[in-house]
Formats: sequence, C-alpha cells, structure tokens
Amino acid sequence: MPSRPTIPIIDQRNQLPHAEPVSPGRDLTDRHGRALRDLRISITDRCNFRCIYCMPKGVFGKDYPFLKRKELLNFEEITRLARIFSEHGVRKLRITGGEPLLRRGVEHLIAALAKLDGLELTLTTNGVLLPRMAERLRDAGLNRITVSLDALDEATFRRMNDVDFPVADVLSGIEAAERAGFGQIKVNMVVKRGVNDHAILDLARHFRGSGHIVRYIEYMDVGSSNGWCMDEVLPSRAVVERISAEFPLEAAEANYPGEVAQRWRYADGQGEIGVISSVTQAFCATCTRLRLSTEGKLYTCLFAQQGHDLRGLLRGGADDERLRAAIGAVWHQRDDRYSEIRTAQTAAARKIEMSYIGG
Ligand code: SAM
Ligand code: SF4
Ligand code: SF4
Repeated sequence: MPSRPTIPIIDQRNQLPHAEPVSPGRDLTDRHGRALRDLRISITDRCNFRCIYCMPKGVFGKDYPFLKRKELLNFEEITRLARIFSEHGVRKLRITGGEPLLRRGVEHLIAALAKLDGLELTLTTNGVLLPRMAERLRDAGLNRITVSLDALDEATFRRMNDVDFPVADVLSGIEAAERAGFGQIKVNMVVKRGVNDHAILDLARHFRGSGHIVRYIEYMDVGSSNGWCMDEVLPSRAVVERISAEFPLEAAEANYPGEVAQRWRYADGQGEIGVISSVTQAFCATCTRLRLSTEGKLYTCLFAQQGHDLRGLLRGGADDERLRAAIGAVWHQRDDRYSEIRTAQTAAARKIEMSYIGG
C-alpha cells in the first residue's frame, strides 16, 4: 500500500490544512475512501441569465457585489493548478460558472488546458453565445459540451431565465455546436415542480433520435438565494414514469463508476436520457468531484459553507510542491456527504451560491 499523507490540522490564516508533502499519484483518497477524479472550475461569477433557481433577480440585481477582475484567477494560474490536480489523479475538467462563455478569451484557456496530458475537457453553458464561440472552442481542443435548457415553450423558458432570452437562441447554440463537430451534446434541464415540469416531455420528444442526451436534474438547495423547498422538487422517478408512459424506457448500465446521471435507454432504440437525483437518491458515496471557485477557493462539496484559499498560495509564491501538498491535504481530510444528510434545517443554512462555486 502506498503511504498516505499525514492528517492535517487547520491553518487559521488561510483556511488551508497543514500537510506533509503529498506525492502525486492516483492513490489519494478522502475520509470515505473516494478518489479525486473530477475538477469543476468556475471562471466567472457573472451571467447573462437570471435563472430563478440559480441567480434570482431579487438577489443578483444591480448592486450585487460580483468579483473584480483582479480577484479572479487568471488563465496561467488556472492552468498551473489544473496540471497539479491532474498529477493528483483528476481525469476530467469541467469549465463552468456563472456563464463561462462571458469570460473574455475563454478559448485561450481551453487551448492551454488541452495541452495537459490525459484530461477530458468539458464545458457547461446556457448556450446563447455558442453561435459565435462553438467553432473556436472546438478548435482550441474542447472535447465535450453541455447546454442547459429548461423548457421549449417560449413563456416557460423566459420565466425560467427571467431576462427574456428566447428559446431560439439556445437552440441555435446547440445547432452551432453540432456544426462545429460536438457530438452527443448533453442538454441539462432543471425540473421545478409546477413551474416547468410540463416541459419534460417536450424535451424528450424534441431530442429523441437526435444523438443528444437530455438530463433531467432535480432542483437542489444550492446556495441560499433561491428559496428552495422540498415541495418544488419532482423526484426523478416521476420523470422516468412520465416519459416512459409515452416512450418506454429501460435502465442502462453506468458508463463508468461514479457517473452522476442514471441512464435510461429508449426501448425503440432512439437514444437515451439521464436523470440526476441528488435530492431523492443521494450519490455522495461515489462523489469524486472537487470545485475551484472563480477567485481560487477550493470546495469539497457543492453544498460547502467554506472554501480553502489557493489564490493566496499562488500569489504568495508557493512552489508546485507546496500547492500539491495543500491540495492533497484538503482532499485527504474531505468528509462531505451533504445530500445523504440533508434536512429542512441544512437546506435553510447559508451556503455558497452555485454561480460562484461552479455548477
Ligand atoms: N451558466 C451555465 C449553465 O447554466 O449551463 C453553467 C453554470 S450553471 C450554475 C451549471 C448547471 O447548474 C446548469 O445546468 C444549471 O441548470 C444547474 N443548476 C443551477 N442551479 C441549480 C439548482 N438549484 N438545482 C439544480 N441544478 C442547478
Ligand atoms: Fe446563469 Fe447558468 Fe445560473 Fe442560469 S444556471 S443563472 S445560466 S449560471
Ligand atoms: Fe458530492 Fe457533496 Fe453532492 Fe454529495 S452533496 S454528491 S459530496 S457534491
């Protein structure tokens, strides 16, 4: 057995645990024996949408204190960290936000990350900037793309994004991504009971047979601004039942251990859907994800209340060894399993907003 890093103690100055040097390798595990495999990087806390479940207008209005440019990690800092994460076993990077395509020059970041060995590079977007960006992203080396789309009827879609973006803009974005050569695009729909659940079947009908995969996500209590309550969650089980009543579905095997979405295949061979049941069927036991926020804080869970500051280390001149040890120590002491222990009380607690921590 390879030796594991010493259990760290908390450093009050920068919220980073002290640690013995952690040698790079794939044996790094957290307190529940979970490996580190995925890193989500939020590259902006800003967005051109105000989705009611993510950045509600009432909170994210004109006076919202978005981060200033110098507070954001720059592309060199992100790329350096990504290399060190990959040495710790990360295999997949997801670029997200906020709306990642709003960050100027994002294609240059993608190009730099694409030079790192053995990493799958993906990006999640609301899609409206894809008509002008898709080709540049593909040329830069982006492997896969996920587009969020919460309804196909105009009234519901505008109600969900709350800034009057028409649904045609997202559909044009998906077409642009197809033209640029992205295959099997994942289409994320957050289902809010009583608000857009009628659109479940619209999306299934629209994307069946297209080669793309709609993934229905249970509305989660991320952050504190969306006023989440359990009554607004439609369990994935009901999503599968509704689609199956019109287009019979059969369960499909996971593509790899720890896959977030459960796969369901259309019995007539017209493709598949996915459901992400983070509220009703927690999957913390296999969670291999870490998140790097826009300003360089590391979060070990989507529902974390505190991050670990890597920017301070980067800008304080830490060498790779120090950064590697800090990251290893954070993962090694990780104990999160929020979705397994969610209660009405935890849901009401103050948590970091998704647009900042990275969805
Ligand atoms: N702006 C991009 C987008 O919307 O695709 C990327 C960032 S967004 C935070 C990433 C994903 O998180 C989106 O698919 C979005 O629908 C999802 N999301 C945001 N808030 C959510 C919530 N409260 N519950 C479930 N999913 C949520
Ligand atoms: Fe913006 Fe994405 Fe959040 Fe919607 S879900 S407000 S598009 S960051
Ligand atoms: Fe992972 Fe936290 Fe989500 Fe559980 S609640 S699956 S630990 S991000």
